[in-house]
Amino acid sequence: MSLQFEGVTQHLWVAKCRRYAMNTGIVHDAGHAALIDPALLPDEVEEIAAFCEQKHVQVDTVIITHHHWDHVLGAARFPGAHLLTHQAYLGQMALDLEHTWSAIRRFYASEGVAVSGSFSPPLPDLTFDRITGLMVGELRVQLFHTPGHARDHLSIYDAESAFLWAGDLLSDLEIPFISYRLDAFERTLAMFAAMDIRLLIPGHGNSTRDRAEIARRIADDRAYLSELRRLIEPVVLRGGSVQDATAACAGMVVRNAADNAEAHAMNVEQVFLECGGSAPPNVLLGWSREL
Ligand SMILES: [Zn+2]
Repeated sequence: MSLQFEGVTQHLWVAKCRRYAMNTGIVHDAGHAALIDPALLPDEVEEIAAFCEQKHVQVDTVIITHHHWDHVLGAARFPGAHLLTHQAYLGQMALDLEHTWSAIRRFYASEGVAVSGSFSPPLPDLTFDRITGLMVGELRVQLFHTPGHARDHLSIYDAESAFLWAGDLLSDLEIPFISYRLDAFERTLAMFAAMDIRLLIPGHGNSTRDRAEIARRIADDRAYLSELRRLIEPVVLRGGSVQDATAACAGMVVRNAADNAEAHAMNVEQVFLECGGSAPPNVLLGWSREL
């Protein structure tokens, strides 16, 4: 087994996938389970299925936190389960289908996984708008809309243990990837700042129970977003170019700068455009290239 499942609460097992420091989760109670973003590679998905069988829990639901390629690969392995996403998932998946499929092909090729045919995106039969409760056995967890990284992004919260499954937010390795909108991202982080979070599990990176670190991750990411806005808005106001915006942000301190340089450059573009700047499409890196 390459996945090591750790019982981080009485009702949550978490394992780290081999690639992208990606976390995959199993919420469980009384013989029932909901999977969260079940893994990446086919053998890992099989291990999740085998682990659930060994623990005698039935997979009732698969939750996909958002439509990006690395979060949708395992759902098809559980055809008997409900698939739960945010209601914007289908539209976003339709928009990004080509990029999603080419990213999956590239990933599988780099891992030596044979692929045949084309990609059929998993289709949800349960969706919601702002917030919804999900029963897993006798346990009720809350799913809520947390847009910013993606329009259809959701997070999961258990009030009893106060764990937050953040999805692609609050990573200690990545900076915020503003692949949807800055204003939505700002509201999402403001919401996190007001919550009681005692265990934070990001979609990529390390989980933490350290309350000071949880507060710091939220504060650091909010500071990063507000600095982008503070530096880029004046450039747009004076009719500057996207290159001017890039120059204005050149001195920003970005964590894991080498790994996050391209994401930071794309964030600058995204914020420039969102603040009202305009640029010819051929000069933009664009988030869609990476999705
Ligand atoms: Zn993502």
